Amino acid sequence: MNNDDNRKLYMEPAVRKLLEDRGIREEDLRQVLAVAEGEGRFHSHRTTGHRLAHATPGKVTYWVEYVQEDGGYRIFTAYSHRMKILEGFNMPPRKEGEKVDWICAACDLPLEWAAVKLAYLDETFVADLPACPACQRVLVSEENAVVKMAMAERMLEDK
Ligand SMILES: [Zn+2]
Repeated sequence: MNNDDNRKLYMEPAVRKLLEDRGIREEDLRQVLAVAEGEGRFHSHRTTGHRLAHATPGKVTYWVEYVQEDGGYRIFTAYSHRMKILEGFNMPPRKEGEKVDWICAACDLPLEWAAVKLAYLDETFVADLPACPACQRVLVSEENAVVKMAMAERMLEDK
């Protein structure tokens, strides 16, 4: 899984700055990319072709939006959350959301809304999130991670 290690990562200065502010290191990006590209496990966007992948090497889940470029990867954004996705427990959504523009690359199926189980500290939650109807792999958007999950994480930490 180390054969991707020397591939170049292309980032605009604003993206580099954002990731620095979020405390996301290059090695975090590379861990996600190694899993995504090594196992073909990522979501791909219907119109832009961007790939969105995640990995949880420790307590933190990292998400990276990227494309392959010139033998390396162009990074558009990355974000993280501590809340754990409990994979494999998806249920029908509580309400139908808008059409999802992401496709599960492994299953070649468009994501659909599902009620997904999440856990943080001693609490478990259910949230409607897009997920693959076959393998149940979930998608956490940047907004969900940096706004909603971050807020819930802080509330639980303060309890
Ligand atoms: Zn799938």
